[in-house]
Amino acid sequence: MSQSPWQMALQQLDAVAARIGLEEPIHQKLRHCKRTMIVSVPVLLDNGHEVVFTGYRVQHSMDRGPFKGGVRFHPEVDLDEVKALAMWMTWKCAVVSIPFGGAKGGVTCDPKRLSRIELERLTRRYTFELLPVIGPEQDIPAPDVGTNAQVMAWMMDTYSMTVGHSVPGVVTGKPVSIGGSRGREEATGRGVMLCVRDAMKRKRMKLEGARVAVQGFGNVGGIAAKLLAEQGCKVIAVSDSKGGLHSSRGLDVAKLLACRGQYGTLCDYGKHDRITNDELLALKCEVLVPAALGNQITAGNAGQVRARLVAEGANGPTTPEADAILRDRGVLVIPDILCNAGGVTVSYFEWVQSRDEFFWTEGEVNQRLARILTAAFAEVWDLAARDRVDLRTAAYQLAVGRVAEAIRIRGIYP
Ligand code: NAD
Repeated sequence: MSQSPWQMALQQLDAVAARIGLEEPIHQKLRHCKRTMIVSVPVLLDNGHEVVFTGYRVQHSMDRGPFKGGVRFHPEVDLDEVKALAMWMTWKCAVVSIPFGGAKGGVTCDPKRLSRIELERLTRRYTFELLPVIGPEQDIPAPDVGTNAQVMAWMMDTYSMTVGHSVPGVVTGKPVSIGGSRGREEATGRGVMLCVRDAMKRKRMKLEGARVAVQGFGNVGGIAAKLLAEQGCKVIAVSDSKGGLHSSRGLDVAKLLACRGQYGTLCDYGKHDRITNDELLALKCEVLVPAALGNQITAGNAGQVRARLVAEGANGPTTPEADAILRDRGVLVIPDILCNAGGVTVSYFEWVQSRDEFFWTEGEVNQRLARILTAAFAEVWDLAARDRVDLRTAAYQLAVGRVAEAIRIRGIYP
């Protein structure tokens, strides 16, 4: 039985609150989401029938800045998951010191079963329902599982049409042609690569030839695999929801990405074995990148993980019980709130560029991203070494401490 993401998020917060002696009123404030919105999303299907989907937007904290967080379209989206993802966004923005709070949204649906026009209708109606709570100063959505730059373009257009002028800053992760940032699509995967590089340097491990297994070959996993291969790593396995491919000689990531672009799935190009997702998680390798969904490394399979390093591209892939098992077995875990923070960092750059209407080159974006992530990684690493704790505890300590500081300074209204 997998653990509820919200219970997992609370457990992580409670542990850090106890460690840093957080005042109880602030602890309690952070245990609650500031605002939770549940909306019905009626959509006219191509066959003439109307179906009502359920959508969510949860705003956890705006203590350090406007709410920020992605939108997920997936059959398993529920309130419990969206609340956890919103809380994790609060910590993520704080750990990399960008001036945002945390939020998350989603619609319980299977976007793969909708036509393009149905997906557009669903996106526009969902956006319309969220109008009272989103905006460039209020809450800024972005892509997540099942959504992409096109979905962000529809969200931005719907919001803009209703207010009567173009508002590119209402979403991030939109196409460059309408004010998106160069480098945003690659940013989360790039951040994963940068964190892996820094961690391996600290552990005196060689990047060249290091074996990497990636679970989830979507935006995050696909780019992380590509960039790690460019750094000289050997990507020995990748997977998607239908299963994975493995080759001890290394996979041709560029070829797999081209094929995914064409067919939307992993392609059997011949020189490899087919493996299951469970087998992938247990492969002997230097780096394991879970980059699919949450709750993948659990008490049930953490004992089988044979990687030396786990780089959490996904949100919440490791349960607290699994975390403890990995720690006891000496597996280094780069926690999600740091490891996949590249996406929200470049979302911040995009928001700044949209508001300034002045755009940066891809080189500038990547350089600033590397500067922020490298600094955050060093802060987390040094704190972990100083306090003899794992990286997740250190990252949470920094993040919760920063949010608590903002709450103390702002005070409680009225
Ligand atoms: P995506 O939809 O582009 O890709 C998800 C991938 O995971 C797909 O290849 C899918 O087939 C695969 N998948 C789904 N279920 C699976 C399973 N049970 N086993 C193996 N593979 C499975 O999504 P994404 O944007 O790449 O997001 C992936 C993870 O990264 C999510 O946890 C998301 O919250 C997190 N994340 C994404 C971003 C971002 O900028 N996109 C930023 C931070 C964190």
